[in-house]
Amino acid sequence: MSSSPLGNVSSIGMNIDQPLANVKTIFVGGSWRAAPDGAVLPMHAPADGRLIGHISRGTAADVDAAVTAAQAALDSPAWGGLSAVQRGRLLMALSRRVQEEVERLAWLEAHDTGKPIGLARGDMQVLARYLEFYAGAADKVHGEVIPFEPGYTVTVSREPLGVTAHIIPWNYPAQMFGRSLAPALAMGNAVVLKPSEDACMSCLAVAELAQEVGFPPGAINLVTGLGAEAGAALSAHPDVRLVTFTGSSEVGALVQAAAARHHVPVTLELGGKSPQIVFADADLERAADAVVRGIVQNAGQTCSAGSRVLVERSVFAAFAERLASRFAAVRLGTPEANADLGPLINASQRERVERFVAQARADGIAVIAETPLPDDLPPQGLFVAPVVFGPVHARHPLAREEVFGPVLCAMPFEDELDAIRLANDTDFGLVAAVWTRDGDRQARLARRIQSGQFFINCYGAGGGVELPFGGVKRSGHGREKGMAALEEMSVTKTVVHFHG
Ligand code: NAD
Repeated sequence: MSSSPLGNVSSIGMNIDQPLANVKTIFVGGSWRAAPDGAVLPMHAPADGRLIGHISRGTAADVDAAVTAAQAALDSPAWGGLSAVQRGRLLMALSRRVQEEVERLAWLEAHDTGKPIGLARGDMQVLARYLEFYAGAADKVHGEVIPFEPGYTVTVSREPLGVTAHIIPWNYPAQMFGRSLAPALAMGNAVVLKPSEDACMSCLAVAELAQEVGFPPGAINLVTGLGAEAGAALSAHPDVRLVTFTGSSEVGALVQAAAARHHVPVTLELGGKSPQIVFADADLERAADAVVRGIVQNAGQTCSAGSRVLVERSVFAAFAERLASRFAAVRLGTPEANADLGPLINASQRERVERFVAQARADGIAVIAETPLPDDLPPQGLFVAPVVFGPVHARHPLAREEVFGPVLCAMPFEDELDAIRLANDTDFGLVAAVWTRDGDRQARLARRIQSGQFFINCYGAGGGVELPFGGVKRSGHGREKGMAALEEMSVTKTVVHFHG
């Protein structure tokens, strides 16, 4: 790690050599501070177990201070008084700073999450793109005039909600910063971010850049800490006007229940068990490439990972062969190695994935494809070998639960109706894909598969920044990305003017 350009991040308390008393990763009202009792949480690199820094263990009092600071920013001319054009310019300035700092930010992200450095660099470009997209969109949310009774003028506009709360996971911290915060800021809200205690260094660094480019105090606040402490306090705060949560279905339910006590609306971006459906007439080579990428990327720790592959029975064996050769060539490694995938995020996540794998083996499910673990991985690294099981019965936990690791479940289907039935036979509904050359079939499946996004002969694992994204069923509700996020982050105001 000494060779990595981690850069000087000591101003936000992430320098491993500094005394713990100087760890200040809570950002409130424009200043960095420690938790009230000075408590910290250690951060370990998943690739080799090394201690790479500490974060402050924020409390309910820190959350309260952050919400108060955000409200003060909304009430101040420095933030609340800015025009949409001015907010857009700040977001654009931040986008540019992120692009200048891609290398440092990517190394932070790679070591914090364990992901390959190339993937982390891509994440930073996506973060910059989110900031750019919403910078441009800030002044393009227009109102409407409604024809009403004679003598009246009725206008409808979108107003900021107020203080918005953003609780995000560890798998793509920087991307989530952009996806969740940029539209909220574009609409003129003031934000409180609770990043994940498992990985959040890039978020701290980007908040610091935001301060540098001129976001006024309180527009962006950030409280590091544990989910059950800082996260729970934020989702239950009475002065928050919206909670956007990205994470597990279980915690999403807790967040929604906490927010409901004060009638605070919630958007939930939760997990998935996303199917890729491969028909016999598909380009099997391209489909196999996309199926491997869809489960290997970020070690399967992607909400929209394609964790089920449904294959028409007549080509099941041929497709399994293609998967076997591709999985044999998949490379695991540390961030520096820039392999296809890195380790899992923490020990409990690895145990969970290993439990699924052990159960599948114990239940006698055949292994279709497997990646050997190389011998030279760091002994403390949390690596898991990618594996494909199949055929898996639709009732088996491997076919039903989100594993969140590089474990793919293959299932044969008989015909189109069977494929639709199997694809929809899940509690989740985030993303799905079909591989077929038949145009009518593509259209039928696009209509009938229950998912927030549907891909035809491609698999975009979430798609682009511009494309509305979110789930149906237990994958959540509400939409992020694209112009849709601006609707979520604002409220309709109707003004009825009688002028005789
Ligand atoms: P998680 O639910 O454990 O944690 C997410 C966030 O919630 C973290 O910041 C955590 O500190 C916080 N949290 C934990 N307990 C809390 C509580 N009681 N109250 C309030 N906040 C609390 O999820 P994770 O393990 O960090 O992430 C993995 C999950 O996220 C997977 O299920 C994955 O599918 C999902 N995910 C979904 C999307 C999406 O867009 N749909 C994107 C990324 C990840």
